[in-house]
Amino acid sequence: MRKARPEQSRRVYLDNAATTPVDPEVFKAMEPYFRGKFGNASEPHSWGQEARKAIDQAREQIAKALGAKPKEIIFTSCATESINLAHKGLAEAILRQWQKEKRGEIPHLITSSVEHKAVLESCKHLEKQGYKVTYLPVDKHGLVNAKDAKKAIRPETVLVSIMYVNNEVGTIQPIKEIGKLIKKINKPRITNHLSPIYFHTDATQAIQYLGCNVDRLGVDLLSLTGHKIYAPKGIGALYVRKGTPLVRQQDGGGQEYRLRAGTENVPYIVALGKAIELTTKNKEQTTKRVKMLRNRLIEGVLKIPEVELTGHPTKTAPHIASFVVDGAEGEAMLLLLSDKDIAASSGSACTSGLLKPSHVLTAMGYKPQEAHGSLRFSLGKDNTQEEIDYVIKVLPGVIKRLRGMAPKL
Ligand code: PLP
Repeated sequence: MRKARPEQSRRVYLDNAATTPVDPEVFKAMEPYFRGKFGNASEPHSWGQEARKAIDQAREQIAKALGAKPKEIIFTSCATESINLAHKGLAEAILRQWQKEKRGEIPHLITSSVEHKAVLESCKHLEKQGYKVTYLPVDKHGLVNAKDAKKAIRPETVLVSIMYVNNEVGTIQPIKEIGKLIKKINKPRITNHLSPIYFHTDATQAIQYLGCNVDRLGVDLLSLTGHKIYAPKGIGALYVRKGTPLVRQQDGGGQEYRLRAGTENVPYIVALGKAIELTTKNKEQTTKRVKMLRNRLIEGVLKIPEVELTGHPTKTAPHIASFVVDGAEGEAMLLLLSDKDIAASSGSACTSGLLKPSHVLTAMGYKPQEAHGSLRFSLGKDNTQEEIDYVIKVLPGVIKRLRGMAPKL
C-alpha cells in the first residue's frame, strides 16, 4: 500500500467524482501546446499542421479506448456540451427529416429519472420545444429495468439516453442489455420504414473503471469528460457512430467534421487523449486498488449506527461510496468534514437558502428527510489506506456532534 505523502497527511480529497487533479504525465503532454506549439489547426503552415497532428493523435487515442474510428470522435468543451449535442442534435436531425417527409409526428426520447442534470435539463429543454420525453423509474438501488425501457418505446421513439454509472450512488446501469434490446427492436423498425432508435450513454463516471467499447455496449452516442480522469476541466468528447444523424448546435467554422464549430483547444485535446490512454492502460490496477479502499471505507463507515449504504450492493462503480446518515444533514457534515481537511460531497444542494433533496435518492424511494442526510465519498487513484483510516476515525465524531444538535422530534 502506498504511503501518504507528508503534505497530504491532513488533507484528504475524497471528491473525485466531482473532479480530479491533472496527472503530471497529462500536464507534461499538454504543456508544449500552450507556447511553442501554439498553432491554429485550421492553418496550412507548419505551426497549424503541428497542432492538427496533435489533435489527430488524441482522436486516435480516444477512438482506440472506445473501439471506435477516429472520425467518430467529436471534441467538445465538457460532458454537458457533449450530452446536449447528442440529444438536441439527434432530435433536431430526425424532426427535420420527418418534416421533409411531411410526417406530422414529434420525436420521442427516453431517459431515466436519476440522470445528471446535464441530461435532465437538456431533455427538459427539448420538452419545451415540443418534443416528448419519458423518464424511466428506478428501483431502490437506483437501477433502471430494461423491461421498463422496452415498455416505454413508441413508434416515434428516436433516442434512449441512459447513464452508464450514476454519479451520486455509483449504480451501474444495464447498458449492454438495453443496447441489445434496442438492436433487436430496430430490425423490424427499419424494415417497416420507421426511424431506428439511437442509444446514447453518459459515460462520464464510467470511463475510468469500466469497459467502454461502443460495439460491446451497443451504443450509438457516448459522452465523456476530461476532468474526472485527470485531464483539465473544459474538455470533453462525444462518440458518434457513423451514420447517426446529428445537427450541430453551434454554428461557425467547419471544425470537428462540421459538428462543433470553434477553434480547437489543442492543449486540452492533447490532455484528454493522454488521460484516456493512461486510464485505459491502468484500468485494471486502479480498479483493484480503489475497490479495496472503498470496501475498507464502507466497512468502517457502516460501524456507525443508523448509517445506510446507498446504491446497488454489487452493480456498483469502484470509486463511489454513498451513504444516508440518519439525524445528520448532508451540507453540515461536509462543513465539519472540511474543518478536518476532508473533502466529500452530498447529493442535497442548498439553493437560495432552501435545502433540495437529491433527485436521485428521492427517485430511489428515499423520503426527502432521509435524502437530506446524504454523504458521498468518491475515491481516486492517489488515495491511500492512511487517508481512509483517517476518515473512519473522524466521521463518527462529526455525526455524533450533528445528531446532538438536531432537534428531537
Ligand atoms: N454526467 C455525469 C454523470 C457527471 O458526473 C458530470 C459531472 O459531474 C457530468 C455529466 C457533467 O460533466 P462536465 O462537468 O464535464 O460537463
